[in-house]
Amino acid sequence: MATDSRQSIHAAFERHVSSGKAAFFAAAGIDFIGGERSGITLSDLDGRPLINCHSNGGVFNLGHRHPRVIAALRAALNERDIGNHHLVSADRAALAARLAELSPGDLKRVVFGVSGGEAIDFAIKLARGHTGRTKIISAIGGYHGHTGLALAAGEETYRRPFGPQPAGFVQVRFGDLDALAAQMDADTAAVLFETIPATLGIVIPAQGFFAGVRALCDRHGALLIADEVQTGLGRCGAVWGIDTFGVVPDILVTGKGLSGGIYPITATLYREHLNPFLHQNPFIHISTFGGAELGCRVALEVLEILAEPGFLEHVNEMAGLFADLLARLKEKYPGLLLGVRQRGLMMGLKLADERLGPLATQIGFQLGLLVVFANHDPSVLQLLPPLIVQEAEVRVILDRLDRVFFEIGKRLG
Ligand code: PMP
Repeated sequence: MATDSRQSIHAAFERHVSSGKAAFFAAAGIDFIGGERSGITLSDLDGRPLINCHSNGGVFNLGHRHPRVIAALRAALNERDIGNHHLVSADRAALAARLAELSPGDLKRVVFGVSGGEAIDFAIKLARGHTGRTKIISAIGGYHGHTGLALAAGEETYRRPFGPQPAGFVQVRFGDLDALAAQMDADTAAVLFETIPATLGIVIPAQGFFAGVRALCDRHGALLIADEVQTGLGRCGAVWGIDTFGVVPDILVTGKGLSGGIYPITATLYREHLNPFLHQNPFIHISTFGGAELGCRVALEVLEILAEPGFLEHVNEMAGLFADLLARLKEKYPGLLLGVRQRGLMMGLKLADERLGPLATQIGFQLGLLVVFANHDPSVLQLLPPLIVQEAEVRVILDRLDRVFFEIGKRLG
């Protein structure tokens, strides 16, 4: 395949993988095919480099092909495989214990999965199983994955073609405590929010929002589920994004970055008081590949890197540099860049209107910068560089963003 021409790869993709995606990228003038990759850089087959400021929403928190993550997988391959998901496993026990150590309060127990959607599905099942209630309240325009219950909790567009949906799902405006309070009742099993909704446009809630959500959940006997698939594992300058709001959820879901970009693995952490339900029903949720032992070894190394002294300090230092440079960019292009949304290295640029996000993505691509607009609010450009980004690289990224805005200004006259 490596020797195939670009044309034949595009043709095979169009014919056998997705004709729709092929048409979409052709229309956008983006003919990228991933080739070599390392650190913050993802190159085209022809070697043209892109700086990755998308990071697949956190999959590449440690950049591409982090040497320590690769070494962990290589070492694991000498003695492990997927493992047997029914049996006691040293690797799953070790990873769960490490996750527990890095988590606040009594978030001490873990169920592993393969995808974020699956981990959210399980979180919802656990909330319903534990409470015996059905209602799940989530955010309008939120995103939790495309599997069954996760899909039901997310944006309506992705559900509409697929017939009757599971009952009991209600959505409210994110950040609106009054709207949430109006929906809370004696049948509410859980409130499920991304800590910072990414697809909705990196919406940073008021600092007291999650304390308010926590209080409402406690008052009504409902559980709080934090979707930390994008905000977790250092992205927001703390281990979990929700830590920065000083709140302990009952269930916390992590994915993407836990893989080290190398081996798919996700986890649903839950508090001690939810354990009786699973103690009585230990085989009620099964995932053959969830918590594969090779993946556990990889994820354990990811957590070692995250927990090393200086790692989170580096994230916060780079976040400060971005904040300074983005403020200058905003001053330079006041008609185009209206605001900067930021917590750590989770950043969103609020642009003047909904045409500009897709345009910035397209121009960024031409200028060697992978930046993607928020799907549920295209007026926001997501900016999610790998957490290992260095100062000189931050300056290059800002330089390219400057050129993106200059070019947008020129095109809009
Ligand atoms: N939650 C959030 C916040 C996400 O961003 C995603 C994926 N983009 C998911 C859940 C679902 O993860 P996956 O694609 O691995 O199922």
